[in-house]
Amino acid sequence: MGIVAVTDQSLKKASRIIQDGGLVAFPTETVYGLGCNALDKAAVEKVFRTKGRPPINPLIVHVAFIADAQKIAKMTPLAEQIAFHFWPGPLTMILPQRENSEVSELCTAGLNTIAVRFPEHEIARKLVQMAGVPIAAPSANISGAISPTSPRHVFESLGESVDMILAGGASRMGIESTIVDVTTDIPVILRYGSITKEVLEDVLKCNVQDGVAGEDNVHSLIQSPGQLLKHYAPQIPLRMDAVDVHSDEALLAFGNTKFMSIKTGGNLSSFSDDQIRNLSESTDLEEAAKNLFSYMRDLDNPKFKSIAVMNIPNEGVGVAINDRLWRASQKP
Ligand code: AMP
Ligand code: MG
Repeated sequence: MGIVAVTDQSLKKASRIIQDGGLVAFPTETVYGLGCNALDKAAVEKVFRTKGRPPINPLIVHVAFIADAQKIAKMTPLAEQIAFHFWPGPLTMILPQRENSEVSELCTAGLNTIAVRFPEHEIARKLVQMAGVPIAAPSANISGAISPTSPRHVFESLGESVDMILAGGASRMGIESTIVDVTTDIPVILRYGSITKEVLEDVLKCNVQDGVAGEDNVHSLIQSPGQLLKHYAPQIPLRMDAVDVHSDEALLAFGNTKFMSIKTGGNLSSFSDDQIRNLSESTDLEEAAKNLFSYMRDLDNPKFKSIAVMNIPNEGVGVAINDRLWRASQKP
């Protein structure tokens, strides 16, 4: 069926596909999701198979009402406070799962916790409401590759193996949700996103821990399975904090490129149009996040030796951008 425009009719059809155990890719404010009925084991299995996703990497379950989150997860007062301030929105909570939740254990990779998100995007919300079941949805791309921020990206990555791709334009934020573990009294960030540690601390009036598995935090791997893997990666190598660029590289720029030099001499005006993208000429980090995956895809061309990425300030959503770039730069 491929890419389908959103109408009352196509939404109805999409919700029926979900109910019948099929797969629907749909827009959210973060990236495009590959959705299925979270209660249906065979459907969840299909999501893992379609993405080539390792079964140890659990899925986020999407709901369209806080009451529906409470049916599958135990929400402490802290979780309720977070939901009150940040839902619907680009934030996922890790919560203790209810024993009587009917969510397939494949979704949670056998853990007794569950990742829950209430997305803000109108089409995502409508789809979950109309399907009448929680929707498990990882990003709609082959596992480990660059996340999709447009319906075309989904089609290029997964093609006809998705029963329907709902077209909702370019993703507004372009970077996956912030994941916060709320299974104890202290919230712990497991994945950086556009809702930053500072914003969380400011709103919740408490300390928030950084538990993102990375270079200097290998222990977090247990809480956040899948997080240390090479991820968000283009086919060609990517290097960060580039201060100069080779003539056979592509350049992912940020801000002013006036002082970028070419190693063999010359200047950037000799670069072809498809060799350079600027995440944000005005150094707006939110604009950079929105463009990140789309521009990485544009530059991911085997005719280039690698993608050189200019330094991006590690503040605000820049922390999430740098986290994605660092994972993309890891060797397999
Ligand atoms: P994606 O589906 O690509 O947005 O990735 C979802 C992320 O959520 C995965 O990388 C998991 O690490 C994380 N996640 C999902 N469920 C859990 C859970 N129960 N505990 C910890 N992390 C989780
Ligand atoms: Mg993903």
